[in-house]
Amino acid sequence: RFIAFEGGEGVGKSTQAKLLVEALAERGIDALLTREPGGTTGAEMIRKLLLAPPGTGWGVQAEALLFAAARSDHVAKAIKPALISGSWVVCDRFVLSSRAYQGLAGGLGDEEVLALHRIGSGGLMPCRTLLLEAPVDDVAKRLRMRDGDEADAIGGRNERYHADVARGFAGLAQGDDSIVQIDASGSAEDVHAAVMREVEPLLEE
Ligand code: C5P
Repeated sequence: RFIAFEGGEGVGKSTQAKLLVEALAERGIDALLTREPGGTTGAEMIRKLLLAPPGTGWGVQAEALLFAAARSDHVAKAIKPALISGSWVVCDRFVLSSRAYQGLAGGLGDEEVLALHRIGSGGLMPCRTLLLEAPVDDVAKRLRMRDGDEADAIGGRNERYHADVARGFAGLAQGDDSIVQIDASGSAEDVHAAVMREVEPLLEE
């Protein structure tokens, strides 16, 4: 089973990914907790290249290629081996982020992003993508409280870009049964309960 958490910055993806892995462990299910960009030594190196300060950023094509390269290494060395060994994989961001950020907000196009993903990672898709959504004001508040956030974000992006990303995510979720939209405006416990409602059926399959 391969579950991805998606959504904009500050919606609580990493908290929810961690809570899900803990809940699976309580049920005796082994799960790899990982993130993108990153998850392997090589992909974490690419992450550092991507999180460049404003003014030293990449063009959208180069950015998409770097994300695809990082994912390729991550899939080959961490995700696939874990799935083959029978473990679950819970990933903080995956290809839907590339589609929303580079494909839609960045203007590269969805087809191009999916083509890169096919070349880099054989088109591997999560069995469920949990898309966390929260109002922009809540997110801005959470981001202000978060330490070191500036160092861990791609600089030079404006509010419009982030609004385009959120709209892109929501649009991609329409008509795709593997993507579930979850209201992430409540407490971490409430959101975790909503996550578990989506994951429970997978435990029985
Ligand atoms: O998920 P996290 O906040 O750690 O992501 C790090 C940075 O990478 C964020 O600024 C996020 O917006 C950016 N990102 C991106 N395109 C992706 C995935 C992440 O611009 N495909």
